[in-house]
Amino acid sequence: MNSILQASATGCHPASVPDYTPIPQLRELQLKRMQAVVARASRQVKLFQSRMADRGLAPEDIRDLEDVAKLPFTEKRDLRDTYPFGLFASPMKDVVRLHASSGTTGKPIVVAYTKEDVDVWTSVLVRCFAGCGLHHGDVIQVAYGYGLFTGGLGAHYGAEALGAAVVPTSGGNADRQIMLMKDFGVTAMCCTPTYFLHLIDRAAELGVDMKELPLRAGVFGAEPWTESMRRHIENRSSVEAFDIYGLSEIIGPGVACECRCHQGLHIFEDHFYPEIVDPVTGELLPDGSEGELVLTTLSKQAMPMIRYRTRDITMLLTGQCKCGRTLRRMGRIGRRSDDMLIIRGVNVFPSQVESALLEIEGTLPNYQIILTREQELDQMEVQVEVTPHMFNDKIGALQGLQGRIQGALDHVLGLRVRVALVEANSLARSEGKAKRVIDRRTS
Ligand SMILES: [Zn+2]
Repeated sequence: MNSILQASATGCHPASVPDYTPIPQLRELQLKRMQAVVARASRQVKLFQSRMADRGLAPEDIRDLEDVAKLPFTEKRDLRDTYPFGLFASPMKDVVRLHASSGTTGKPIVVAYTKEDVDVWTSVLVRCFAGCGLHHGDVIQVAYGYGLFTGGLGAHYGAEALGAAVVPTSGGNADRQIMLMKDFGVTAMCCTPTYFLHLIDRAAELGVDMKELPLRAGVFGAEPWTESMRRHIENRSSVEAFDIYGLSEIIGPGVACECRCHQGLHIFEDHFYPEIVDPVTGELLPDGSEGELVLTTLSKQAMPMIRYRTRDITMLLTGQCKCGRTLRRMGRIGRRSDDMLIIRGVNVFPSQVESALLEIEGTLPNYQIILTREQELDQMEVQVEVTPHMFNDKIGALQGLQGRIQGALDHVLGLRVRVALVEANSLARSEGKAKRVIDRRTS
């Protein structure tokens, strides 16, 4: 692994860097690792063992990558049902790290790492950062939460192994984040896109011009975001915004990341095997079709995941990326099948609201969706922050804006919603993932 780290860190791309492995060789490696992980899970994980037996399957039945579709899925509820250690494939003495979800109700989900798993996690993050054009000498501020959440420590290890100087601020305290960004000459920021927007707003209030800072890259993830949000961030700061993807169940951040071509996110396929399935039937879909992303960990030791249903909706992009990486790319995650709201029988995704709002001058990308039920009928209200300039303007201008938003949302959603304009900074800000939907419907 060290030679890979060094090669990526110095920015050269010898054939030994797995991002550029010729495709036949990559598929061969995937098959070998897939067979090994299936064999290991069959031996060590009771739940997987019994599901294989139910299907009359043995590890030897996986003869090529097409056979993967025969394997049973793993779902989030399997992690809850086997809490805390039921899906571990390594003895506790080999586990060097535990992370857990921060769910507010019920038991969290737990994930485990051996030393080798932490090394793989670090190496994929180095490859992410290198793909974003970062290298030795950069100063990377990590404002993802540190602790049980995988974001902070994941990015931290990767940035350090890259040879960058890491500023581990974790989330929160925007004023201090901005002060350190400025005083330490931070060149790259890792956080959620929503939190970065909050920092841009706060910096403006403090009289700090984000365009004057040496900051040149933002590695944003942990929540779905849109192309309109990217344009908004890039217009208001000096960063080139990169989308990074990951989830704790698979490894944490670093499953996939954009390169500088920004044409989808390269999946680190030597460690994570992607499939796209129909979210309803679970049937495998061909490359290029939109569906639910399913991932299998190819090298994870402590807690291998076989065909994990991510609930994230995307597609595998075909064709080679101009950067030369042979790794397949996935489209950015605009939505999760879990995020879908059903309002009066119409499917609505918060990302549709966000895109529509960002196209309208005078609104800020801070909004909230409030769902209520009145006389058996679902009502959706979208509260939108408007720029201070707009709010101080005449009432007529506000009404005009409200009408434009109403029209845009009706058009995009195919649904009549209520629009309420609120003052800038009046909606609650999250330190991490934005809470966009408040559902007050009682079923
Ligand atoms: Zn690329």
